[in-house]
Amino acid sequence: MSIDYATIHLCNALLNLSYAGMLLALWYRRREPHLMLWAVSLLVVSVAVYGFTFTRNPIVVAVLLTAISVNISLVWAGARAFDGRPPYHWNLVVCPAVTLTGYLYLSYLGTRSGAAALATALLAINVAMAGLYLLRGDGGFARKATGWVLLAYAPVYVVSIFLDLAYDDSQLSSVLILVSDFVLNNAFVVGLFAMMEERARIALKQLAITDQLTGALNRAGLLGKFPDGKVSAARTLLLADLDHFKIINDTFGHSGGDTALKAFVSRAKEFLNKGEFIARIGGEEFGIVLAATSLQDAADRAEQIRQELANAPVIWNGQSMPVTASFGVAVGERSESFEAVMTRADDALYRAKRGGRNQVVA
Ligand code: GH3
Ligand code: MG
Ligand code: MG
Repeated sequence: MSIDYATIHLCNALLNLSYAGMLLALWYRRREPHLMLWAVSLLVVSVAVYGFTFTRNPIVVAVLLTAISVNISLVWAGARAFDGRPPYHWNLVVCPAVTLTGYLYLSYLGTRSGAAALATALLAINVAMAGLYLLRGDGGFARKATGWVLLAYAPVYVVSIFLDLAYDDSQLSSVLILVSDFVLNNAFVVGLFAMMEERARIALKQLAITDQLTGALNRAGLLGKFPDGKVSAARTLLLADLDHFKIINDTFGHSGGDTALKAFVSRAKEFLNKGEFIARIGGEEFGIVLAATSLQDAADRAEQIRQELANAPVIWNGQSMPVTASFGVAVGERSESFEAVMTRADDALYRAKRGGRNQVVA
């Protein structure tokens, strides 16, 4: 099979140009820095990759290899910006600078193959670091897959170094780089778009299960913790309802009432351990799920929250707002329906209200 390198490189360059154009258009609309950094990185790589087909002049080749290193560093910088971190870091300079000076110096000494091996090894290191950055960060499958695609470049570069050193003027090495670059580069760009879509989807899902006022879970979030409506392991449910909340609203206004709701959530959260959570079920009614499996333990912890709230009034606009809550406690056994546990906790809460409020009933 005879391979028309120039045409394939041209196709790859044109593909990268179109991806860069798409990212630039998105950046123009959204002004998110990662879009610009990734667009520039793809512009740089499209020019650099195509440039190799024109010349073997060592100075130009050094510049083109440096450009490829800059492109990888920009991918990394874009990933940092994507995570909300400052994009610019040492590697925007270090790997490209060592590539440029190292390649020029070794070429000057007359070892072109040594110069190429050094530059390729640096590309492998740079791309592996960018891949590891993606793999280590928070994200879902798309981010991990994109990280692995970047990481896959490293062994390809390493094998190409050995092929270059083992065989004079090896076609094998060129074909390897050509094919792998075509496959990995396209997979990588698809990965970038998938990562952005993935993050938007995760954020939307989070929004759908979060109460916007207090930041606690909402009712859907609470129910979502019990797929198929069953309690998967023994858990305790505390139902809490703020006392005489209408009076708080009437006395301090709606925004005073909102402050009391937020204060209840933040104070209750201080008493929660890992894996326990609070949800706002309705207006001023909350569900707190504890890992406790005994009714007495759960009642004791509800009592701590009740006392913390009753003993320290919420301060709003310089005024002291007395806020209390009543609690109903129920233990849910494994495989029991969550609705049945809610009903028991609700009955206990009703008794707490009937009994005079500001108390825990188990
Ligand atoms: P009780 O001790 O029997 O629970 O008395 P209550 O006044 O708390 O009773 P009720 O549950 O009837 O009142 C709830 C009030 O909560 C009514 C509603 O106006 C108010 N409310 C519901 N959602 C919000 C909110 O998001 N912000 C504020 N400020 N008030 C809310
Ligand atoms: Mg109430
Ligand atoms: Mg209520």
